[in-house]
Amino acid sequence: MVLIMIFGFLLTPDRRITEKLLGDRLRGGRIRCPACDWQPQPHDRWCCAPGCGEVWNTFETRGTCPGCLKHWTHTACHRCDTWSPHEAWYEETD
Ligand SMILES: [Zn+2]
Ligand SMILES: [Zn+2]
Repeated sequence: MVLIMIFGFLLTPDRRITEKLLGDRLRGGRIRCPACDWQPQPHDRWCCAPGCGEVWNTFETRGTCPGCLKHWTHTACHRCDTWSPHEAWYEETD
């Protein structure tokens, strides 16, 4: 019984995305435009418009503007200008 509880604890996945992990994901190319496969880099920036005008890397906050906390469900590609669902940018890793 105790063993089962320990294994259950060990197997619980930690789904929080740290900044380091985000950097690894960006460098590893596991975030890309669903339409043209363009891969955003850590230095790429998006603008909250229409909105508060904040400029930031939307993948650092998973689509949430740090200025006004607006959640952007779609993200525009810098290469092909296609708006795709933010979650669709994250490549399946399994
Ligand atoms: Zn694109
Ligand atoms: Zn904003």
